[in-house]
Amino acid sequence: MADKSQRSDVTLDTIVSLCKRRGIIFPGSEIYGGLQGTFDYGPVGAELKRNVKDAWWRAMVQERFDIEGVDSCLLLHPSVWEASGHVENFTDPLCDSLGPSRKRYRDDHIEDTECTLYRTVDVTDEEPKAIEGGEIWAPTKKKAKEFYQTWWEKHLGLEGRRVKLEEVEGSTTVGRFSPDDGGKLTAARMFNLMLSTTVGPVEDSSARVYLRPETAQGIFINYESARATARRKLPFGLAQQGKSFRNEITPRNFIFRTREFEQMEMEFFCKPAEYCQDGEQTDMEWFDFWRNERLEWYVRYGIRRENLKFYDHPKEKLSHYSRGTTDIEYLYPIGWQELEGVAHRGVFDLTQHMEHSGRDLRYFDPQVEKHYLPCVIEPAAGTDRAVLAFLCDAYREEVVRRADEGKGGKESKRVVLGLHKDLAPIKAAVLPLLQNRPDLVEMARKIATDLKRFTNAVYDDTGAIGKLYRRQDEIGTPYCITVDVDSLEDHAVTVRDRDTMEQERIPADKIAGWIRNNLAG
Ligand code: ATP
Repeated sequence: MADKSQRSDVTLDTIVSLCKRRGIIFPGSEIYGGLQGTFDYGPVGAELKRNVKDAWWRAMVQERFDIEGVDSCLLLHPSVWEASGHVENFTDPLCDSLGPSRKRYRDDHIEDTECTLYRTVDVTDEEPKAIEGGEIWAPTKKKAKEFYQTWWEKHLGLEGRRVKLEEVEGSTTVGRFSPDDGGKLTAARMFNLMLSTTVGPVEDSSARVYLRPETAQGIFINYESARATARRKLPFGLAQQGKSFRNEITPRNFIFRTREFEQMEMEFFCKPAEYCQDGEQTDMEWFDFWRNERLEWYVRYGIRRENLKFYDHPKEKLSHYSRGTTDIEYLYPIGWQELEGVAHRGVFDLTQHMEHSGRDLRYFDPQVEKHYLPCVIEPAAGTDRAVLAFLCDAYREEVVRRADEGKGGKESKRVVLGLHKDLAPIKAAVLPLLQNRPDLVEMARKIATDLKRFTNAVYDDTGAIGKLYRRQDEIGTPYCITVDVDSLEDHAVTVRDRDTMEQERIPADKIAGWIRNNLAG
């Protein structure tokens, strides 16, 4: 049975509002009323996303001896998607409400619910009149009324009339109904999720290309050139990050499911078990390795272990070529959901590209003196889903006594993003206590300039110190450095730690080294 656990410490609305308030993430094309399923990263969010990508690249490419990076095009030859099976199979089942909202759903996201039929009856005149086409299916009468008021009243032209919703006796049944308007749903039909465009000046079907729905195929088609030029033997991996596009039927839950998003994928090419020599890791052992390695990456960057778990796809639901697929799930405020997928893809992709392109993609193994296709293990992460998970896990509300807000300090609520230092968008903020003292401002600016040489530091004098601390806490800045009147005398500054709020006096000429050491630690 699905695990229906819920978070009680943070809601999606809280994160959405923090993101808007602090310039982390905005709805896409907002000044034109928005474009559904798109989100833009603001100044703070752009840094956060870049840091998440850098942390992944470091762990998956730079810290390893067996993985190289590539950067392929968004637009690939249309045959790539024929070979990969996306043209035929990259579909989701779609259904529509026959009710007035005409809303569209992923059929597999609609749960069977017990509903009763309510008939709309106009009781304004002496003779009550059942309204044709006013049949609403709802789990309760209250819900039926809500559907009526939101959608049906206007649709049926009953504004200003007195209307009763009459339960049809014996109609209660378990079935698929629109959860938005109580209408019946159409049968499911398959819908291809790839977005397309045309290349060149003539817009005929031969010019049609797809915007990639995943970054992985850009790796497979470069596999042989990358392997040969990097002089690689099995096992080795190719990693790539970048945008992907899917025409999701119901984009929702903020940046969890969007139509344009980023992925971080790695294809690890390894020997099938039958060609392994003593002591060499088999394909299934690599699969196991990458499942664990990827979960540990999230823990390394601050996600609490109890908010992560594996979901192993049951054998009978695997694609015909897959020898195992595990989702790494995170407990989002919307419940447990896929954060990353780790799949054993067998030899499927390279076989397909070999057949469709006519190129020999087999590997010559000098140990067994044979040509064969390697197995592929694919950890595929969504950058935006990772950003959302890091934001949710880092979010805390605390009641604190703020010494910086008046004598003795009064109790107040503080919102803080306890992000891992490597992910924090801004590493240090330099704040002059008085913005109308040119000597303080000059000293603070100089410190910020020194810090900027090696990290992302900011200078900010746009408010009172308490407000400035609050702003930096909310975006997860690990250190705030205050320059006060005493600084001019003792040539020292105060460093405030985001998590403990403890303050330490550090000589101004040592502050750059202190920040560098503490960020590295
Ligand atoms: P889902 O079942 O949630 O649609 P998926 O299994 O189709 O996801 P994959 O094809 O395995 O996803 O893609 C790898 C990763 O890319 C996912 O684990 C997820 O993090 C991310 N991803 C996929 N689709 C989206 C999307 N529409 N918006 C944001 N991230 C996505």
